[in-house]
Amino acid sequence: MKPSLIEKIAVSEYMAKLENKGIYDAGIEAVTKALKEHCEILSKSNRFSPVGFNELNKIASELDVELYTVDKNELPSGVKGLLIEAKTSDKNRKVILIPKGIKKTTAKFQIAHEFGHLVLDHSPIPLHIAHESLTSYRQYLINEYSANYFAGSLLVDETSFSVEIEASDYDIEKMAKKYEVSYETIAQRFVTLTHEVSHFIKVDSTVKIIKRFANVGSKINWDYIHKLCHSWEMTKNIRYLNNVIDEENRIIWFPKVEQTETDEKHTIVLGVDSAEKSKFRLFNEKRFQS
Ligand SMILES: [Zn+2]
Repeated sequence: MKPSLIEKIAVSEYMAKLENKGIYDAGIEAVTKALKEHCEILSKSNRFSPVGFNELNKIASELDVELYTVDKNELPSGVKGLLIEAKTSDKNRKVILIPKGIKKTTAKFQIAHEFGHLVLDHSPIPLHIAHESLTSYRQYLINEYSANYFAGSLLVDETSFSVEIEASDYDIEKMAKKYEVSYETIAQRFVTLTHEVSHFIKVDSTVKIIKRFANVGSKINWDYIHKLCHSWEMTKNIRYLNNVIDEENRIIWFPKVEQTETDEKHTIVLGVDSAEKSKFRLFNEKRFQS
């Protein structure tokens, strides 16, 4: 489906807001921390353990929500998770539906995302309603964005992340394995939680930027980035593309291709200040040209 004008305006407004205001949300970080404490799933010892399905089940029962996997065709097309609230005479029943056969990392993220809608008390906005006005589409975007933020924060908590990322020498891929989440989730947490100026860009297979944000302190010429995008075009069978020195913005860009559920590919691009580059192992590996 082609994006409507309302969708385009709301999305570009929202991206601009993220670029200007930064992205860290202390409120949501505190909520996920409190939830994990309440469910007693924060590791008590110093040994790290990722949030897995056991922990998510524990949270689900605490939130009084039932988790089910269903056949893909029982959900609207493209939907990777659905939260349904149904009031019956004696009880308000809440159910999360996840399609069968999706990757473990996607399933975990989707469940955590639906928890986000529930905990943050979003009133559901069906997509066809969201498309009706700019106001409702803005609200829809804000809800989706905060549910995603909630999921990232629940699965990759702030406290352990700052320790583990340093211990991994800023190796995003290693971190994704460790937390059992996608590369994209770690890349987003990296930009959200790191103190240095950094950027996140997601490019789809038609070389269109579908998500971008930067942390506070970044000034960037996005027109130049749109031109750079073409060097991040995905080629079949290639997972790594060469990193790019962006002289104009004094940033080094590190692109990695990630496969989505629908077997499409998108490129996740991280950028850091070129002066800081030596700190990040991923920007210095020999297989990449610079
Ligand atoms: Zn959602």
